[in-house]
Amino acid sequence: MTITANSTAKPPVTPKDAAAMILLRDPDDPKVFWVKRAKTLAFMANYHAFPGGQRDTADADVPLLNAEELPDAVMRVAAIRELFEETGVLVARGVESLSPQRRAQLRDELHAGQTAFAELLAREGVQLDASLLVEAPRWVTPPAMPRRYDTRFFAAWLPEGQETEIIPGELEDGEWLRPHEALQKWIDGDCLIVTPITTALQALADGVTDFTMRMHSVPQAERDHMERRVELRYGFYMCALRTPTIPPATHTNCYLVGGDEMVIFDPGSPYPDQQAVLDEVIETLQAQGHRMREIIITHLHPDHIGGVMHVAEKFQIPIAAHRLTASAINGEVRVDRLIEDDELIELHEAATGLTWRLRALWTPGHAQGHLSFYEERTGTLLTGDCVVGFGTVVIAPPEGNMKDYLASLRRYLSLPKLTALMPGHGPVLANARGKIEEYLFHRAQREAQIVTALQAGAQTLPQIVKAVYTDVPEAMHQLAELSVLAHLELLAEHEQVVRTGDAFMLV
Ligand SMILES: [Zn+2]
Repeated sequence: MTITANSTAKPPVTPKDAAAMILLRDPDDPKVFWVKRAKTLAFMANYHAFPGGQRDTADADVPLLNAEELPDAVMRVAAIRELFEETGVLVARGVESLSPQRRAQLRDELHAGQTAFAELLAREGVQLDASLLVEAPRWVTPPAMPRRYDTRFFAAWLPEGQETEIIPGELEDGEWLRPHEALQKWIDGDCLIVTPITTALQALADGVTDFTMRMHSVPQAERDHMERRVELRYGFYMCALRTPTIPPATHTNCYLVGGDEMVIFDPGSPYPDQQAVLDEVIETLQAQGHRMREIIITHLHPDHIGGVMHVAEKFQIPIAAHRLTASAINGEVRVDRLIEDDELIELHEAATGLTWRLRALWTPGHAQGHLSFYEERTGTLLTGDCVVGFGTVVIAPPEGNMKDYLASLRRYLSLPKLTALMPGHGPVLANARGKIEEYLFHRAQREAQIVTALQAGAQTLPQIVKAVYTDVPEAMHQLAELSVLAHLELLAEHEQVVRTGDAFMLV
C-alpha cells in the first residue's frame, strides 16, 4: 500500500532577521574564527558556523557611529552584540581601556540580562562604530527549511589585546584556522557548513583584500536568487523539491553525490516547475564536468519517484533500485539495475583524488525495499525515509513493519563512524547518533503509551489513537492508526498482545 497526502501548498516560513560576524586576525597570515554549534540546538545542531544570531529588539537602542547612510545599522549592532555574547570579543571604539577581566564581567552582565547592551556600553565609555565592520552579503535560508533566517554577514578584525573565549552552552567550541585549512576540513567531510560560510572561506582563501567583494559575486548571494542546491558537505548536493508528501514535510530532498561521476537519489517531484529546477541543477553540474552515472531510488513512495522518469529520459540516465522496489513500481518506473544489500558504489574525483564509497544498506521498515546509503570515507548516511529531518516516520503496515524498522535503526547505530544524516525530508542532521537514539527512544515511548492505553481499556485502533495521539490533529489519525497497528503487530509477535477481530488485548 502506498501512503499519499494531498499537497496543500503551505507558504514557506517567514525568515527572521539575523546577523553573523566573520572574525579575522593576523593580517600577514590571516585566520578566521568559526564555532561549532551545540548538539542540543533545535536548528543546525553541531554545524560549524560564524558567531551570530537573531536580532534583539533592544539592538535598535544602541548608538552606532558612522551609520548615517546605512539602511541596516541595527543589524551591525546585532552582529557586534552576538559576537560579544558568544566569544567575549568586543569590537568597539575605546574598548582598549577595558581589562580582559572587565570585559568578561560585562559579558556576564549582558548574559544575565541585568543591563541592556546600550546602557552597559555608555557606562563603560565604549562606542560602537560601523566603520570597524565590512559588509558581506546577505543570505536567506532556502524555503523548504523549518526555520529560516535572513542573515546579514559582516567582517571585522580581532581588536588588539583580545582573545576569543567560548563558554559552553549554545556553542560546543571555537577555533582559529587559516581559510584554506577550514575549507580542507569541509572537503574531507569533517564538518557541515552552510553555503554562505563556504563562500566566505573560498573568498578568504584567495586573500583578505576585497574578499567580501568576491563573496558578493556569487549569484546565490543575491537576495532574489534563492539557493536551489546546497552543498553542506563537499560532493553532497541537496536539492529540496516540492512534492505531494506527508505534512509537516512539503518537500522531498533529492541528493546528487560524487565527483567526476555522480549518482542522483530520489528525484521525487512530479511537478513540472520543480523538475525544471532540478534540470537546471543537473545541467549546471554537467557543465562543470560532472557526469551523471545513475538515478537511485531509495523506496517506492510517490514523493520519491515522481520525477525519476523525467530525469532518466531527459538526460538518458539509467535507474537503479532494490528488487522489492523495482517489482512494486513495475509499469510506472523502469528500473535498469538492481541493488543488493552491502553493494559498494565508488565514485572518484581526479582533481582532489577523493573517492566517495557508497555502501548500500537494505533497511526495510518504512518500506520493504528501502535502501539507505552509507558513505564510508566521511561517515555520511543517506537515510531516505528511515530518519527524516523533522517530524517522525510513518510505519504503515503492510508495507511498513515495526520490527524491521527498529532493526534498521539499530543497524544504523552499528556503523563505525556517523557524522551526518542526509534525510529524504527536512534538514541535514549533524548530530547523527543522537537523532537515531532519539528515534528509538520515541518508538519505545509510543509502545509504552499503547500498552498503557490497552491497560486502561482501549481496544480498537481508533480508541488507542485517541488515548495516545493527543498531540496530533484529527486529520492525521488515519496515519496514526496505521502506526499503532505497526506497534501492535510487533507486540503480538512478542506474544504480549492478542487480536480478536478489530479488538486488541494484552495477554
Ligand atoms: Zn516514504
